[in-house]
Amino acid sequence: MPTLSTDIRSHFPIFAWHSREKKPFYYLDNAATTLKPLTVIDTVRDYYSKYSSNIHRGLYPIAVKASNAYEDARTKVQHFLNAAHPEEIVFTSGSTASLNLLASSWAGHMLQEGDEILLSPMEHHANLVPWQQISAQKNLHLRFLPLDAEGNLQLDQLDSFDSSSIKLISIVHISNTLGHINDIGTIIGWAKKRDIRVIVDAAQSVTLYPLDVQKLDMDFLVCSGHKMFGPTGIGILYGKKEWLQAMPPYLSGGDMIKKVGLYESTFADPPHKFEAGTPPIAEAIGLGAAIDFLNYLDRPALLNELDQLTTYAMEQLRSVPDLEILGKAPKRSHIISFTMNGIHPHDIATFLAQDGIAIRAGHHCTQPLMEHFGIGASARASLSIYNTAEEIDALAGALQQIQSFFNS
Ligand code: PMP
Repeated sequence: MPTLSTDIRSHFPIFAWHSREKKPFYYLDNAATTLKPLTVIDTVRDYYSKYSSNIHRGLYPIAVKASNAYEDARTKVQHFLNAAHPEEIVFTSGSTASLNLLASSWAGHMLQEGDEILLSPMEHHANLVPWQQISAQKNLHLRFLPLDAEGNLQLDQLDSFDSSSIKLISIVHISNTLGHINDIGTIIGWAKKRDIRVIVDAAQSVTLYPLDVQKLDMDFLVCSGHKMFGPTGIGILYGKKEWLQAMPPYLSGGDMIKKVGLYESTFADPPHKFEAGTPPIAEAIGLGAAIDFLNYLDRPALLNELDQLTTYAMEQLRSVPDLEILGKAPKRSHIISFTMNGIHPHDIATFLAQDGIAIRAGHHCTQPLMEHFGIGASARASLSIYNTAEEIDALAGALQQIQSFFNS
């Protein structure tokens, strides 16, 4: 039975707080957001308490310090993703904002009527609805890679696709509902041979899975700081320099211009062209601290332990009568969705909450995927580096009790 190091837990003050307050706390909702290490909390606090100021134009010391810290965070993200240039990293408010920016600025200006965008039915709504919106505006067509009955992308069918009108593939790396790990290497390879651009939604994967945007030859990648042990309100859009240069701005106003006249303006170069107005300064600097924390961790070793813990969790959940795990993938991550015969997922989550066990229930912003499985909702437990076998035992034990309660 694997146990992750308690040392990791000591970085996250929320555990100590719950323990002091004698409140049971089993946090198994990491796909929604991760907990924050002290170093991130302290970094954000330091900005507000020691050098709170706006960036880029102030010439006094704290404004210079804030500007440098903000741009340092960009460089940290660049190195984390192995992007070729810091200008390829745009700060947004999250994956959703990054995808809306791409739909509006890239698809809105680069695609023509009749062009096609290839997605999958397992996309988070953030990687579906913006494409529906821009398709309606521009008469584009959405197409979908098929899923098999177990929710696996049928990549062997890629070659049967008429790709002549496909201009973009936007695909999730790790499904936030199933935990399936999609083979983005194969998808990108197929797309490159056909001169199709690829966006990878790495919201669930970038934290622990090494993603080298140059090696994988990604055109765009999106992710959210709050799922990477960083603050809420900050996200990343990676884009190849040539694409970002060709795209028009998304939001316009201050801080994204070169020269403004009464009737027209010219725009700054990327990334600032896409960062209009006062950006999330504290959040970006906090994200920089989260990247430092991730670099400090032995991520391959932790991922290995997390895989073992997930296998253990799957075994424990399978021992609960009438519990069904959604999806069977050859490669899966630390996200497990399940249903229990006749018990509504919201009842499961509510009962677990009474024992201090935090999971999520609902459609997980993947309604088409739920439809694929013929259900409206599932319960979802998602693990991270600080979870332990004891927490899994608590979850499995509580699920057994819920099952007996509803069956008695
Ligand atoms: N894509 C995936 C795969 C996600 O899991 C999420 C968040 N659940 C998003 C996109 C949207 O992220 P955010 O809400 O941080 O914008």
